[in-house]
Amino acid sequence: MDPNVPCHTCSYCHNARPHLCENPQGIGITRNGGLSELAIVPASQAYKVPEGLPAEAAALTEPLACALHAVDLAGLRPGATALVIGAGPIGILCAALLVAAGASRVVVSEPDPQRRARVPAFGAEPAAPEAIAGFQADVVLECVGRVETMKFAVEAVRSGGTVVWVGVAAAEAEVEIKPYDVFRRELTIRGTYVNPFTMERALALLAAGRINWEAIVTHRFPLDDFEQAWDTHRSGAGLKVCVQPAGDDR
Ligand SMILES: [Zn+2]
Repeated sequence: MDPNVPCHTCSYCHNARPHLCENPQGIGITRNGGLSELAIVPASQAYKVPEGLPAEAAALTEPLACALHAVDLAGLRPGATALVIGAGPIGILCAALLVAAGASRVVVSEPDPQRRARVPAFGAEPAAPEAIAGFQADVVLECVGRVETMKFAVEAVRSGGTVVWVGVAAAEAEVEIKPYDVFRRELTIRGTYVNPFTMERALALLAAGRINWEAIVTHRFPLDDFEQAWDTHRSGAGLKVCVQPAGDDR
């Protein structure tokens, strides 16, 4: 299910931009969530899981749908090059989608060697940040949310290219960029927020085997071990930590 519930009555909702809704609700945030055996959600938020797709794969639909919206906004053309900054779960999902979208090269910049080691399983090239000094790509997706990497993203895009700031920055953070550089090199810098109208395609990609989801779910816990699952998530030990309220359904 899509946890982002729009109000359907504000100006943005009336103009086909429900993700920009002025009065949104969140299942698992402002409403009860799914860490229970049963949950009630509005029918409008529900999507049918394709036959044969395990629940733990289907549970990746929402984060994948967010990454899909970011990749849509990047406007990558087949054969173009891409740089993803950060190999956390969203960086990895973006990289996998850029590969699926036909990029000729997808480089993932990540300082942590253990996180870098996960990258080849998704068809992308891992690189230490210092190893790609001077490299520029047609599209750059920043998936960290730090001012240093957001600035670096603007420097690492080719002229005429598009930067998407995917990572969530601190509310008070400010980034120094050169307006002349944006002008002379005709850069596009975009924000991206949640998953408008991308849930069905995300499900279809998972069901078609185009996303290596088995390498994304690194830990599994029954509902009774929720605290251990949460600690594992907070420690950053894995990519996605899966809690299985209905038991192991693989
Ligand atoms: Zn609204």
